[in-house]
Amino acid sequence: MAEIKTQTLDSYLRLIEISRDLASTLDLDTLLDDIVHASADITHAEAASILLYDDTARQLYFQVATNIDEPTMRGLIVPLDKSIAGWIVTNRKSVRIDDAHKDERYFSDVEQTIGYETKSLLGIPLITKNKVVGVLEVLNKKRGRFTDPDESMLTVLGAQAAVAIENARLFQQSDLIAQFVHELRTPLASLSTATYLLLRPEMSREQRDQIVNNIHSETLRLNSLASSFLDLARLESGRVQFRKTRFSVADLIYESSDVMTSKAQETSIQIRVEVPGDMPLMEADRDKIKQVLLNLLSNAIKYNRPNGSVIVTANFSETEESITIQDTGLGIPEEAIPHLFEKFYRVREHEGKVTGTGLGLSISKQIIQGHNGRIEVKSKMGVGTSFTIHLPRASRMMPRNNES
Ligand code: ADP
Repeated sequence: MAEIKTQTLDSYLRLIEISRDLASTLDLDTLLDDIVHASADITHAEAASILLYDDTARQLYFQVATNIDEPTMRGLIVPLDKSIAGWIVTNRKSVRIDDAHKDERYFSDVEQTIGYETKSLLGIPLITKNKVVGVLEVLNKKRGRFTDPDESMLTVLGAQAAVAIENARLFQQSDLIAQFVHELRTPLASLSTATYLLLRPEMSREQRDQIVNNIHSETLRLNSLASSFLDLARLESGRVQFRKTRFSVADLIYESSDVMTSKAQETSIQIRVEVPGDMPLMEADRDKIKQVLLNLLSNAIKYNRPNGSVIVTANFSETEESITIQDTGLGIPEEAIPHLFEKFYRVREHEGKVTGTGLGLSISKQIIQGHNGRIEVKSKMGVGTSFTIHLPRASRMMPRNNES
């Protein structure tokens, strides 16, 4: 009995400590990671996870877990109507279970995919401003059953976590929106100048044509700025789920370079593809990886020289697969390299010459990191640039998809 009391006191002290940390963290990933580890610690559980609720799709998805690796987690979706987490969301009540397998709400697909057996479970709804944002679960009490103090401590942590999640999201969004509005100012100013000039009677026919062309390209750029902004906002909010399948890397590369062929031909640029015959299938969200490839190919063409070339190569090792897109273009100054993946960043030397939004690489990085991969760049001014994406090899846990 005395031992239980000491354990509880330790847990309360830990709870106070973690609450202080949570209040000062605005980075959503760090925050959620802190919360799951603290939850497992204070309730003496083997594992803990947070599932966020997507009220449009009416399903839950794993955002963070102490016992599931990132790539596996990204593909896991939990239905609202046939799961304990779903029950918690719908009923806005906590659940305490000694043997999950005996519970008819238990959704066993996750267990099969991750190879981790759940026995006891304690889960609470994460509610803020009367809205359920997700579920916090702790799994497998190390000794005995989950207790009342466990539940009340998890509830305190959950209440703080829900507010913190909401704050981090709002902060992220307001920051991004402020930058977006700032980026809108320049094209809007130039559109406004263009229309003013069009109204001037002294403008010649040629000058008018030129201005109309400028308006056209500026509106196209605004349009792509808007779609890229939405893409990035969704990726940053953590609401994008990667729908993983297994697919041929060669097919994906050929398909992507076909899309870019006519653009490349405008400046007589050759695209060459080299993929090893024994390249293993890739396990990822095919559409999203294609989006990354199209962006890198588009850049390799845009920032190239006339009659230049783009070479796309693929490679693999025991642990990862990689795709490199190499160009013979302008190159990137060394001091610009650390900033390339920042939102809205554009290399000053390129700004006047090539149009762009400065969002493509940030989106690509988010997608690749979301797959637990990394993206690397090498460049030499006047010689060319190469971007390489590295993705972890397919795990054997993942069921084969019909695309393979
Ligand atoms: P965008 O091309 O729309 O401006 P990105 O985020 O895709 O935005 O790229 C950011 C910046 O990085 C570009 O503005 C450009 O200056 C530089 N950059 C990207 N790819 C290349 C490349 N292949 N060669 C040279 N510079 C590049």
